[in-house]
Amino acid sequence: MSWETVIGLEIHVQLATASKIFSGAATAYGAEPNTQACAVDLGLPGVLPVLNARVVEMAIRLGLALHAEIAPSSVFARKNYFYPDLPKGYQISQYELPIVARGRLPIRLADGREKVVRVTRAHLEEDAGKSVHDAYPGATGIDLNRAGTPLLEVVSEPDLRSAEEAVAYMRTMHMLVRYLGICDGNMQEGSFRCDANVSVRRAGSEVLGTRAEVKNLNSFRFLEKAINFEVERQIDLLESGGKVVQETRLYDADRDETRSMRSKEDAHDYRYFPDPDLLPIVVTPTQIERERALMPELPWARQQRYVTDYGLNVQDADALAQDRAVADYFEALAAAAGDARAAANWLNGEVFAALNRAGMEIPHCPVEPSALGLLIARVRDGTLSGSMAKQVFEAMWQGEGSADEVIEARGLRQVNDIGALAALIDGVIADSPSQVEQYRAGKDKLFGYFVGQVMKKSQGKANPQQVNDLLKEKLGGS
Ligand code: ADP
Ligand code: MG
Repeated sequence: MSWETVIGLEIHVQLATASKIFSGAATAYGAEPNTQACAVDLGLPGVLPVLNARVVEMAIRLGLALHAEIAPSSVFARKNYFYPDLPKGYQISQYELPIVARGRLPIRLADGREKVVRVTRAHLEEDAGKSVHDAYPGATGIDLNRAGTPLLEVVSEPDLRSAEEAVAYMRTMHMLVRYLGICDGNMQEGSFRCDANVSVRRAGSEVLGTRAEVKNLNSFRFLEKAINFEVERQIDLLESGGKVVQETRLYDADRDETRSMRSKEDAHDYRYFPDPDLLPIVVTPTQIERERALMPELPWARQQRYVTDYGLNVQDADALAQDRAVADYFEALAAAAGDARAAANWLNGEVFAALNRAGMEIPHCPVEPSALGLLIARVRDGTLSGSMAKQVFEAMWQGEGSADEVIEARGLRQVNDIGALAALIDGVIADSPSQVEQYRAGKDKLFGYFVGQVMKKSQGKANPQQVNDLLKEKLGGS
């Protein structure tokens, strides 16, 4: 009998606001410990939280993108627990009434299959501080800079059936939040991370197995590895007559294993109650319409458009629409070049290669789409061959000017003059009597020799297509 894997993810999306969710302290990453924590973040008595309006707008935008319900009124609750990095003794979160509920996210799997993953809810909450274990020998430091940083926790239904599906879901959500401009997506800095709830059950069973929750996964690779380890651990346990206990586990990347952290608390352990310091979040239809008007075109709509309007294949369309800046560049380039396929090829080829070499991202690309569009047009009108165009691109990258300026300066003009080309070809034929004889006697392979000679004499400037056509005509034979 085989096993089925069941996974639900809780993704923590750090919202890209300048200040914290309930205070005016800055959220910038990497500051000196405890320099960005004010009285509110420190949990001092006598201060009150004030909601940052930006986080509500951002939650609405995600809710719209997920086709979710946006609550007209939602409530902040206190989640009570003690931990050194939580000076108030409670985390402000949302419990019974989250701001976003019942959404869905379509994901595409490696075999091309599409799957719709249901999103249970997305709620606003504040992040906790950090315990620093490696700064002082024998002591743990507390850095409260992160305390009060806004998070949107996005909880999925247990709809995912493999590590691959979980990774595809997390990647799609990552793409979406960056598109919406609500999160910088920086996983190393923890701006986008998840807890994976994993269980297994006998294939065909309708009841869910007991789950373990693996905390704080901040890379797609760790998510995949942690799930695979966990699935194997649970199956081994069950097949040897044991039981999975509901618990919280940690993934240790160095050993590629998960380890028990603590037994899982239930909601009642947290003594949730509505926070008396904060009013309910009221969202009006007007506010929702305002956010809807500000929504960018979503990545899957762009992917679809690239296939239907631009004639790209699904893989290219997906790759180009992944990132908003790349997609914007691509569309500007396609328009400037008047040729979407050529634009896609240039972007996936020369442009990305050059960006990679320089360790740069597309917003800093020194060759503007309009300039590259002119270069592509010079290939289409026959001025440049493909390899000459690459040289010109290199020169443009180095700041040597526009395509036409580089072509002039370097004398890189493909010879399209049929008369000049015919003379060149006549010369080559006259110089190679024995090759001509063999070719005409049926040695077809020699054709490449003639092409090579002509290209050489033209210093690579002859139009290869014209060379082929004219040579065939003049050599006759096959
Ligand atoms: P909490 O972790 O705070 O107790 P929930 O009980 O709502 O919250 O579950 C959180 C996540 O666990 C959700 O993503 C849900 O889909 C997933 N989940 C719940 N039960 C299971 C299960 N048996 N197997 C796998 N995932 C599960
Ligand atoms: Mg949980």
